[in-house]
Order: sequence, then C-alpha cells, then structure tokens
Amino acid sequence: MIFIGTVNLTRTRDEGNFLCPACGVSQGYRLRATRAWLTVYFIPAIPVGHHESFVQCDHCKANWDPSVLDMDHMHHEEVAEEKFCAEAVRAAVLVVLADNQITENEIRTLQTISSKLMKRSVERDELGQICSSAQQNRIEPANYALTVSKHWNQKQRARALQVMFLAATADGPLGELQLQILARMQELFDFTDAEYQRAIEQAVDWELDH
Ligand SMILES: [Zn+2]
Repeated sequence: MIFIGTVNLTRTRDEGNFLCPACGVSQGYRLRATRAWLTVYFIPAIPVGHHESFVQCDHCKANWDPSVLDMDHMHHEEVAEEKFCAEAVRAAVLVVLADNQITENEIRTLQTISSKLMKRSVERDELGQICSSAQQNRIEPANYALTVSKHWNQKQRARALQVMFLAATADGPLGELQLQILARMQELFDFTDAEYQRAIEQAVDWELDH
C-alpha cells in the first residue's frame, strides 16, 4: 500500500512594510505563497494547483489579499497629494501677502487656483481663514517653501511654482518683490533656467479667466 496525501507548502517571497488595516499603523509584512503538493509516503512529490499568495502582518498575523499593498501605496499617494495641495495654496497666499495687502483680484485668483488644485470648490470663508492664519504667522514665502517642498516631487514643485506665479500676477505684471520671491523658489526647487521657464509657461494651462 502506497501512502498518498497532500500538504500545503508556504514560502516567503517578499518582505517589507505596509499599512496593516487591522493594526492601523505601518507594520512589517511577509508576502507568502502557498501551493498544494501531492505527497508520497509523506514526502511532497508533485505540485498540484496554483500558487496562492497572501500578505501576512508580522505583528497581528492577520492575512490579507496582496492587493492590500497597492491600497497602501495609493493611500499614501493620496494623503501626500492632499497635503501638497494645502501647502501650495498656503505658499501662494504667502506670496500675495508679501506686500502686506490683498486685493479683490488676488482673492478671486486664489479662490480659483485652490479650487482647481483641490478639485473641489473652495469657499471664500475657507480661503479667508488660510489668509488670516498665514498673516498671523508671517512666515516668509521662501522659508515656508524651503521646509514643505522637501517632500514635494518635481511635478508638484512645478505646480506650486505655477500657483505662486498666478497668484503673484493676479494684479498685473510681477513687481520687484514677487520677482525676487519666485527667483528664490527656482533656487529652492533646484530648477534649471529651462525647467523654471517651462513651468512658468505652463501656468497658462490653468486657464484662469480674467
Ligand atoms: Zn497587523
């Protein structure tokens, strides 16, 4: 008599960190793959069936579908993008406030820019709050950009530059002060002259109507 049976063999194929939905925080994980094997006299001899992959949290040991890793990534991107939008609006507000005054044109432009950036309509009240908190803290636009832009990617930096440029030109051509601020941004963002030029030229793509 031959003893035949099956056994599931599990191997770790990858490791890393992920946002465990059960733990709610970043944890280590192992991406594991299971496959059924036919055993002869208790020794795995022939693989049967497909690999079944799952992600296991090192901490709570819960198993997840591998798509949990994409969700995590997407979630992080979303959060980062949201953070970027809020920071870019604040940077634009600081550029406008640099000359210690804000005009009706500038308010309207800031409102349009932030609505486009955040892909939702930003009300005057909300903008007013950003302005008054920016006014109180009185952080120089360049100093603000210096800290927040550390985690912006190059595309976001270009968009932030456009937003600041559009806000600065809401009342017509750039003044000396705003020119200086924008030139400083080029330095901070590590843009070559050509990259800076291109980013500014693409500001027209925002299609602000005024
Ligand atoms: Zn967990």
